[in-house]
Amino acid sequence: APFQVVDVHDLLDATLVMLKARKPAGVELVREYDRSLPPVPAYAAELNQVWTNLIDNALAAMGERGVLTVRTSRSDDHLVVEVADTGPGIPPEIRPRIFEPFFTTKPVGSGTGLGLDISYRIVAHKHHGDIRVESAPGATVFRVLLPLTAEAS
Ligand code: ADP
Ligand code: MG
Repeated sequence: APFQVVDVHDLLDATLVMLKARKPAGVELVREYDRSLPPVPAYAAELNQVWTNLIDNALAAMGERGVLTVRTSRSDDHLVVEVADTGPGIPPEIRPRIFEPFFTTKPVGSGTGLGLDISYRIVAHKHHGDIRVESAPGATVFRVLLPLTAEAS
């Protein structure tokens, strides 16, 4: 897929449309988009894979009930995409391992443990960005930072 200048909100919406079929009725989807953010140079298909991975994890963590928030904002020279859930959180003892390939806490057959590894590589290596996570019981947020300018990358 080519490197193109895209509006991340269009990418997020495309991912969310596909996700709606899998979203339990008790999970509320909240979108908080800053539409004034400029388009960014990106590999669109790969970034859609990142949103899909993060949202899949959020849904898996919450189960039947919760709030999934997808938010965009600007932080200095980066565009920030946040995927937040109200699930149980990431236990501190596994937090250092979640980006490792094949690390999963899901039952055999339901998780490959590759989602965050692949997502990190797409964001950091292909877009010169970063993924950060903050988690407490009831509030987990994955924050994807994408450089807005060539100098930022
Ligand atoms: P997989 O989803 O196949 O397990 P990932 O790389 O996507 O692999 O995630 C690795 C692990 O990180 C998950 O198994 C889970 O333990 C933890 N994790 C990721 N996202 C969340 C989240 N939103 N809430 C709680 N735990 C999470
Ligand atoms: Mg996953």
